[in-house]
Amino acid sequence: MTKPKIHYGFWAKSIEGLIFMYAKIIVDISHEKLDKGFDYRIPEHMGDKIYPGVLVSIPFGKGNRLIQGYVLEVNETAEYDEDKIKDIAEIVEKSVPIESRLISLAWFIKENYGSTMNQALKTVIPIKESKKDIIKKTVILTTSDEKLAEYVEKYERKHATARLKLIEALKENRQMSSELVVKLGISSATVKALEQEGLVTVSEEKVYRNPVKFSDLKPYGIVLNKEQRNICESIRNYIDNNRGRYAGVHLIHGITGSGKTEIYMELIEKIIADGKEAIVMIPEIALTYQTVMRFYRKFGNVVSIINSKLSAGERYDQFERAKNGDVKIMIGPRSAVFTPFRNLGLIIIDEEHESSYKSETVPRYHAREAAIFRAKAEGATVVLGSATPSVDSYYKALKGEYVLHELHKRAKEAVPAEVFVEDLREELKEGNRTMFSRRLDEFIKDRLEKKQQIMLFINRRGYAGFVSCRSCGKAIKCPHCDVGLTLHGNKHLRCHYCGYDIPMPQTCPECGSKYIAAFGTGTQKVEEAVNKMYPQARTLRMDLDTTSKKDGYENILSAFANGEADILIGTQMIVKGHDFPNVTLVGVIAADLSLYASDYRSSEKTFQLLTQAAGRAGRGRERGQVVIQTYAPDNFSIQASANQDYTEFYNQEIMYRSLSEYPPVCSMMAIMMTSKDEKILAVLAEQIKGMVDTVAAKHEKLRVIGPADAGIARINDVYRKVIYVKHTEYEVLVAVKNLVEEKTEDMELLKRASVQFDFNPMSGF
Ligand code: ADP
Ligand code: ZN
Ligand code: ZN
Repeated sequence: MTKPKIHYGFWAKSIEGLIFMYAKIIVDISHEKLDKGFDYRIPEHMGDKIYPGVLVSIPFGKGNRLIQGYVLEVNETAEYDEDKIKDIAEIVEKSVPIESRLISLAWFIKENYGSTMNQALKTVIPIKESKKDIIKKTVILTTSDEKLAEYVEKYERKHATARLKLIEALKENRQMSSELVVKLGISSATVKALEQEGLVTVSEEKVYRNPVKFSDLKPYGIVLNKEQRNICESIRNYIDNNRGRYAGVHLIHGITGSGKTEIYMELIEKIIADGKEAIVMIPEIALTYQTVMRFYRKFGNVVSIINSKLSAGERYDQFERAKNGDVKIMIGPRSAVFTPFRNLGLIIIDEEHESSYKSETVPRYHAREAAIFRAKAEGATVVLGSATPSVDSYYKALKGEYVLHELHKRAKEAVPAEVFVEDLREELKEGNRTMFSRRLDEFIKDRLEKKQQIMLFINRRGYAGFVSCRSCGKAIKCPHCDVGLTLHGNKHLRCHYCGYDIPMPQTCPECGSKYIAAFGTGTQKVEEAVNKMYPQARTLRMDLDTTSKKDGYENILSAFANGEADILIGTQMIVKGHDFPNVTLVGVIAADLSLYASDYRSSEKTFQLLTQAAGRAGRGRERGQVVIQTYAPDNFSIQASANQDYTEFYNQEIMYRSLSEYPPVCSMMAIMMTSKDEKILAVLAEQIKGMVDTVAAKHEKLRVIGPADAGIARINDVYRKVIYVKHTEYEVLVAVKNLVEEKTEDMELLKRASVQFDFNPMSGF
């Protein structure tokens, strides 16, 4: 038999040369039974036309009744008895249903990020709750007045008072809800009787739960300024010139408050006028009442949201409303990318640099890439927006893969904040042993006096255990990798990337000072220090501990917005997407905390956080001030954020990524292995390394690093190891993943261990 050549569009490279003879077909995509696929043979002549998502007709059951189903996967072998397998009857050639597209999206995710098809389908298609649907019934008068008069006469003769009462009630509007019928004291038997006589019909409509409830809306009226208008027009030109086909990815780079959201809304308005729909992705943390309200004021009822607070049922309903056309704009975090619009025209990703757009569980897909895949497949356009674009996106924009649009001014009058960088080493030299530099201290006192608000920010995540010197400010680094060493126990420093390991030194290897230690400043410590130094100040603290309760997060923010505290202390949560016009001072307690975390994206994260933090100060009329305290005042990401200069940051960072072969210059895949048994894990890691090495023997440019212990080598008694693989071509890494998946599929070891993949990871493992 000749090899059927499979056409996979974007992922063609990884599966070239394989023979796919069988297809797994799903007949009923009714959500609970996603793993119920049936094996069918692919007839030779269909070869390259059978791929995931294609709607086919198959003989089913004993009578070989022809029914329709979707192709889920294509395989070289079948699980079902080969002698009994039937052939696919034909390909259904009609308009591509949304289910088809979602299956193909699931396949893209499975293929490019690593997971089973079942896991991918469950990610893409929401699970239906077995809860009963809410049905709204309406009784409708369907007969002519003449005929009705005849019946009225007849009923009067028979003294059928209940029927007469119902007819009377229906006369005015010709329809009424079944609830009202009940309220009038009319029984369902009466309704049924009239229905049988052919006078009324009862329509049933499923009622969807709607999470968006607003009343009392002011009309929306903002006129775009010239800069905004130019960007809108430019993107619209791309859309119009492409006539319903994919019109590319557009990156809008503009500081917070430059009016990006207004541009999004203008573009959405036009897309809806085209008869299409839009998805708006916003990180959950920035998805506030105010944001949703803005969209709702402009567009009204066709807006819906999904977020993690919705129940599975509510969420399912929102997707149903999108499918049946009630909703035309879906706002939500990462998973909004799967909204089953039939006529998708636009996908907007606000704060596109946010790492929350990448899933932290299998399949570890990136919503930006999934969005681009969907847009290409469905003829939509992607718009990304950020004040601090991800290095990945900016790189692509400069290469011409995305279209770059820049906004230079703030939309409303506001003076940019004044930024000070304070050297904590100097403070120590001058005998200041508190957490607050002299400048920050002076400013805090000033604001407390003026009754203006203050935000103190500490980046707690990602610092844990990194060791640095209080005297010279140097972090202790791995000689083989450009990452900080992490303290393990109390005695060892280790590199997460290559496994390099040394005993914890007694003194700083750079300057000999004995003041070296792992960082450990937490929000709680900052709060204690504030209370001690500024006893008159009222404080609020926002971190994982204080926000773990339901609504804890919103409560703290609204308390602060209402002026119930002078100082808000928190982790990165407090710098994202909230407007507090009375805040005129932002203090960053220690800007280094995310710098040396063992993660190639740590400079990028630091720059983004500091720039966002700076954006928090002075959003009202007063000019704001920002104090960044640091042990590394010369670090380029701190300097660039102090200068509020994205280009300065980007140029340095891309040089580093390029020299050390990190994304976006190179693609990178982490193979993450876990087991409760340390020995089994070690054996597995070596075997997988062996598999990767066989590929590396053929691909000179494939770089293999590890196996090494994961950043956190044990969680919950499960040991973790990682191998990093790098290559300029993403597809080569996908091929390596496929090889490892294939070779480990039936491996005895995998009964007690597991393997996962993470492409272009957002953080260390
Ligand atoms: P971004 O999304 O870039 O942070 P927004 O779109 O939220 O910026 O705009 C910031 C503020 O400026 C909002 O209050 C918005 O209503 C207002 N704004 C934006 N564009 C205009 C405009 N052309 N005219 C008046 N106000 C505007
Ligand atoms: Zn030192
Ligand atoms: Zn190293």
